[in-house]
This record gives sequence, structure tokens and C-alpha cells, in this order.
Amino acid sequence: MPSPEDLSPLLPTMTEWRRDLHRHPELGFQEHRTAAFVAASLRGFGIEVAEGLAGTGVVGTLRGRPGNRAISLRADMDALAMTEATGLPYASEAPGRMHACGHDGHTAMLLGAARWLAANRERFAGTVHLVFQPAEESLGGARVMAEQGLFARFPVDAIYGLHNLPGLPLGTIAVPKGAVLASSDTWEVTFRGAGTHGAKPHLGTDATLAAAAFITALQAIASREVDPLGTAVVSVGHIAAGDPAAPNVIPATVFLKGTARALAEDVRTHVETRIAEIARGIAALHRLQAEPRYIRRLSPTVNHPAQAAVMVRAAQASAGAANARDDHPPITAGEDFSEFLARIPGAYAWLGTGAPAHPEGWHHNPHFDFNDAALIHGAAFWCSLVETELA
Ligand SMILES: [Zn+2]
Ligand SMILES: [Zn+2]
Repeated sequence: MPSPEDLSPLLPTMTEWRRDLHRHPELGFQEHRTAAFVAASLRGFGIEVAEGLAGTGVVGTLRGRPGNRAISLRADMDALAMTEATGLPYASEAPGRMHACGHDGHTAMLLGAARWLAANRERFAGTVHLVFQPAEESLGGARVMAEQGLFARFPVDAIYGLHNLPGLPLGTIAVPKGAVLASSDTWEVTFRGAGTHGAKPHLGTDATLAAAAFITALQAIASREVDPLGTAVVSVGHIAAGDPAAPNVIPATVFLKGTARALAEDVRTHVETRIAEIARGIAALHRLQAEPRYIRRLSPTVNHPAQAAVMVRAAQASAGAANARDDHPPITAGEDFSEFLARIPGAYAWLGTGAPAHPEGWHHNPHFDFNDAALIHGAAFWCSLVETELA
């Protein structure tokens, strides 16, 4: 099985690719330069390329020895709408756009694996589809790719995902047993009362008091209603009411918006139901109206056991038993890889990139940077996974 050492001759090239992508980050569904670079690179390795799925998506198809099985390996390509603060020589040249989640690294790693696999086709039997996905960060590029026929055009037995994880030792591959990442939904509630003079509250119905009671009651969902060993998060992210220029007015409406997370579908549904019930119940108590709305965005990402086991075997082969973990606690962030797992079997693993170079250099922070030393570990794992699945 290919090891990181086997891939090390590609490290300078992969690093160059990664830093070039880092310098030119593009937001979801706008990854035109990135997609063109990916497509041209794949063609250069002698790989068939399909472009335009979900706009900027790219799929490379690589055939090994004759074989009936096919798998997909997925990398995301998009950046975040934030301004980089690393000061690195290859920092983003686009103010307001930054690769702060390491998708530049994911793209470079999968390209490195593609190049190695294209030169070693006799080592596997069957077909590998290399899926370069747009818009993972909040715009749901995976769903759009699936709806536009990804699996109809490129049928596979399984799909796999890999994400960098700072804090996990460099080169460690950790494969969660079940839940990997949480559902990520948005909720909104508008309380409508009767506005009145701030000195004469008895002449109206105070939506701000209802909103205050609602915020407090919300936290009982996670702490009192969900099994303490389960997971739910309900957070208020935005409150809007009144006018700072009119502190002597009790506003007629209060608008609240927030996020809800869960690791299991039944918990997610409970949270959805209860946010609405609590909003309406508190509104009734305060003699006013509540209009709750719940927007389901991403389902929980939950590994399929058989594919998770394959990932563990591949990790043991490429990274060594000491660096391959068959478990990792779930994380309450979300991933649209769940859209793929809702349609076909698959699994998702974490790639350790070691301690961040900057003390604040975690995902989605302006000081984040992908650790290039991890590129050969990720690429070797991908190659090992192909040889494991398509033996
Ligand atoms: Zn992210
Ligand atoms: Zn990410």
C-alpha cells in the first residue's frame, strides 16, 4: 500500500498547487479559476474530465485494471467570505475571501493522489471518480451535484470524504464510528405584540418580554429534554427589535434567529418541534403572537459502518496502525457530505494536521493555514483507500 514516503516526491508540487489555490480563494459556486486548474491538471495526468456539474464542479474518471466496482473520492474547493490575517507570503490576494477551512489542501491532496494513481493504474481494479465539489460552506454544493445527476452519470458503490483537523497529530487518520458531524439548521421566530409608550406598558403587549422568556426557555431543550448522552445545541445568533433612537418605545415586534445542531435525526426533529411549541406557548402566555420558522439545511453526517471499516483498514495500511484511529468523537459543525451519504454508502475521516502554526489558527479563523506537511499523508491515504476498496 502507498505510504506518505511513497508520495513524498510529489510534496513540492502539491505544496505549490496548494499555495497557488490559497492565494486565489473563490467563494461557493464561483470556483471558476480553481475548477479550470483542477480540470487542466487532471487532463495533464491523462484522466477523463467532466466539467460543469453544479456549475463549477469537476469529476475526473480514472480506470484501473478491468473491474466491476467503482468508488468516488471527494474534495471541496470553496473558500470563506472573510479576510486573511496570516501575513504569509502566499496569503489570499482577494480581500474578503480566504481558504480558512483548508479546502485548498483538500483539492491539492486529491490532485496529488490522482497523479499517483494515474501513473499506477495496474495497482487497482475498477473505476475511481474524483469529485471536486463546489460550495461546501453553507451553500449546499453537494446537494446540487447530486440533484444534477452526479451518481446517475458516475455510478459508484461508495463515496469517501476527508477533512483536515488541526489539533489531531500530523498524519493521524481518525474515522468516526457513527456520527461525524451534526445537522446544521437555521430557525427564526417573530414575536408580534402591540407596541406602546415605554412608560405605559399596560396599554400594549410586550414582545421584548416574551422574547426574553423564550431565550431562557430555549435552553431547556438541550438540558432537560434531550438525553444527556445525546447532543443538541440551540443558539441565538441574532436579535432585532426597536430603534436605538427610541428607548422610550416598547417595540411591536421582536425578531430572533439562530442555529440548531443535532447528531441524530430524531433529536433534530425534536428540536425543530419544540422551538415552535415553546415560541407559541410563550406568545400565548404573554398575550401576543409568535411566528416560528425552521429551515432544514444540513442533515447529520453519519458514517456507514462497512465503509468506515474500509477507511480504517486503508489508514492502517498507509499511516501505520499507531496513526490509524477507528473512532473520533463527533463535532457539532456541519458538512454537506451528508447529502451524499443520504444517497449512497460512504464514510468520512479526519486527517490530523498537528498543532496550528498560530495559536488562533483553527478552522474559520483569519489566522488559519493548512499545514502542507499533511499533503503527502492525505494523498497516500487516498491512494491506499483506492487499493483497499478496488483490490
Ligand atoms: Zn468550513
Ligand atoms: Zn471545511
